Amino acid sequence: MDTDQRLRSAIRTIPDYPKPGIQFKDITPLLADATLLDLAVDALAAPFRCDTVTKVVGIESRGFILGSLLAQRLGAGFVPVRKKGKLPYHTRTAEYSLEYGIDAIEIHTDAVTRDDCVLVHDDVMATGGTAAACHALVTQAGANVVGYTFLLELAALGGRARLPCDTRIHSVLVT
Ligand code: AMP
Repeated sequence: MDTDQRLRSAIRTIPDYPKPGIQFKDITPLLADATLLDLAVDALAAPFRCDTVTKVVGIESRGFILGSLLAQRLGAGFVPVRKKGKLPYHTRTAEYSLEYGIDAIEIHTDAVTRDDCVLVHDDVMATGGTAAACHALVTQAGANVVGYTFLLELAALGGRARLPCDTRIHSVLVT
């Protein structure tokens, strides 16, 4: 099996979770395998290895897991973007729509600055609403978005179209 197949086979689909009609992509079997975890971080980082990345911004909650490992791999800091009300300091907020609802995400006002080159990470890109909201949070702070890196892109939901057309978008797996 090649890397793509090995990673793909460690992501299981849970039907009708968290509500009917959603095919939830559960990455926990991949996370539990040390070799696959390493391969996944490598694959997420690969296109950005030669870029200057000062911060990896990871989106709550599964974006924190691979995102912090990715930051370490790239020699960058890690910044959490969290659901509204979860961050303790002053925040900037952006609303977004999910495949299964509407929500808002926040970032600390001092987490990224105009001196930062930011790589945004999440485990899954579905409709792209979360990533687009994250783009707003990062660019409002004056930072440069180097690109986006996802473990899995659900292409049928057209998430790419919600991100700026000149943005580098890397998805390790596309389904
Ligand atoms: P979206 O804003 O629609 O691109 O949704 C992306 C966010 O929702 C990510 O944080 C994902 O973890 C989560 N998400 C949305 N749809 C799914 C899905 N089918 N399986 C797993 N996670 C999902």
